[in-house]
Amino acid sequence: MKTVVTGGAGFIGSHLADLLIDLNYEVIVIDNLSVGRKENITHLVENSKFTFVQADICNFDLIEPIFMDADWVFHLAALADIVPSIENPTEYYKSNVNGTFNVLQACRKYQVKKIIYAGSSSCYGIPDEYPTKENAAIGPQYPYALTKNIGEQLVMHWCQLYNLPAISLRFFNVYGPRARTSGTYGAVFGVFLAQKLAKKPYTVVGDGNQTRDFTFVSDVVSALVTAAKSDLSGEVINIGSNNTYSINRLVELLGGDITYIPKRPGEPDCTWADISKATQLLNWEPKVSLETGVQILLNNMEYWEDAPVWDKKSIAKATEQWFEYLS
Ligand code: UDP
Repeated sequence: MKTVVTGGAGFIGSHLADLLIDLNYEVIVIDNLSVGRKENITHLVENSKFTFVQADICNFDLIEPIFMDADWVFHLAALADIVPSIENPTEYYKSNVNGTFNVLQACRKYQVKKIIYAGSSSCYGIPDEYPTKENAAIGPQYPYALTKNIGEQLVMHWCQLYNLPAISLRFFNVYGPRARTSGTYGAVFGVFLAQKLAKKPYTVVGDGNQTRDFTFVSDVVSALVTAAKSDLSGEVINIGSNNTYSINRLVELLGGDITYIPKRPGEPDCTWADISKATQLLNWEPKVSLETGVQILLNNMEYWEDAPVWDKKSIAKATEQWFEYLS
């Protein structure tokens, strides 16, 4: 079995590569290392079943031959984060839409057996119903969410029109070891863990009563492989923890002081996946609670040692455009 993981040097992709190697599949990782980190996969490079290709999915001619004879393609390569997507929508469109188009064309050419797309729960925007089902209204609030949703639509269209077997999994607030830390202000775990190491207060948004469906990366990765193995095609499926946890609860588990920062426009008070479709169609269920997941992270803090430490002031500066456009 030959598998291709785009974005395989990233947070979720590198955990997926680990699992696929453990399962004895051949793994080719394509990553341009713009967000992904080589350190995430260095432990795999000596493995004869593992290949790393540093390439950008925007370069069709470069990536196309890699898909020859591929059985499964996991398309995880994308630009993430809200703020830079507002500041630089062109790059997001190129990577998340044109890049996905290129991957699909290559998959179609070589008739891969299954493509699994990393969809995003951000497509639901501010949902009307909780837990949120896959047929809830689509309402992206910023270009990251929009471009990931357009990518998903492309995947489903290639599935329908060209008979490319495909599934999109919509992930809810994935966290775990190697959760990406970059120069940009990003997901809450990266921010809080760096603050913990620096013994600085956690920058809690609003009153901290908002809740998120924090889903541990090993559960997400098992869902990806289960989806690839299944006979399903043409389905969009939520992947979440079957729970929703407040930011205050997260802080309680991490331990430490708080400083409050303003509530952010365009963000929901709750994210919470209805995962009944995943449990029924894939026979998959999440296994890791937030309590267990946080404990795993607290035992693996080295990863955040060189991460940027955000504070009230630097966050206010970094999110200027967010407040300007989304208010
Ligand atoms: N959050 C926070 N402080 C931060 C960053 C995020 O309290 O410095 C909160 C934010 O309000 C949200 C949750 O953490 O409720 C998750 O935020 P993230 O940006 O990781 O994901 P998203 O808002 O896209 O679900």
